Amino acid sequence: MAIFIVLLGPPGVGKGTQAKILAQAKNLAHISSGDLFRENIKNQTELGKHAKLFIDKGELVPDDVTIDMIRERLSRPDCKPGAILDGFPRTPVQADALEKMLAEFNGQVNVVPYITAPESIVVGRISGRWTCRSNGHIFHQMFNPPKADGICDIDGSELYQREDDKVETVTIRIRVYLEQTIPLVDYYRKTGKLVEINGAQAVEQVSRDLCLAVNN
Ligand code: AMP
Repeated sequence: MAIFIVLLGPPGVGKGTQAKILAQAKNLAHISSGDLFRENIKNQTELGKHAKLFIDKGELVPDDVTIDMIRERLSRPDCKPGAILDGFPRTPVQADALEKMLAEFNGQVNVVPYITAPESIVVGRISGRWTCRSNGHIFHQMFNPPKADGICDIDGSELYQREDDKVETVTIRIRVYLEQTIPLVDYYRKTGKLVEINGAQAVEQVSRDLCLAVNN
């Protein structure tokens, strides 16, 4: 049976980094709603143009658009064994939709690691973050600097600072997270699937804790 893991946590806590590591370790697809939107923005699709209006302001893209995008992604063959969901769901409406979609694919949400860290840490992580233009690889000017300034170690493409990683927008994203996504903590706690992970630790330690959480 397919395994679906939902990573919850504030922006900048390291969900993207951890999702990539975990997806490789468990041989599961990595579905990042933010990466999917950014890919659409880069390719100037209608979806991308619409999503950009919200993303640049730090707001959430409307539920219906987001849910349709994820449904399409989940239907691709690489999701057959399951997937790590990073950044989706972000609202209770999305969480209900996910349950229904997974039932269609004969699956369910198995475990929900909830990665937490104090606000000062997540703001520091976001404001030093550099993202690779081609494949979304993530670097940090202090904690994980690229070997050459402005160039991705992995694929050689340009590194850029996301528009929504600028300090003014980060404050809005954190407020939106507290208002719209925090209710999911209770939603999943009630199902008994929530496991809290201390995201303030070093990347390797968070990975170890996460592996333990999903293997139990
Ligand atoms: P992320 O890369 O996960 O930080 O997402 C970047 C931005 O994409 C968010 O600030 C939202 O504007 C948008 N976004 C990503 N995932 C979702 C989602 N599940 N629902 C609505 N908007 C989303």
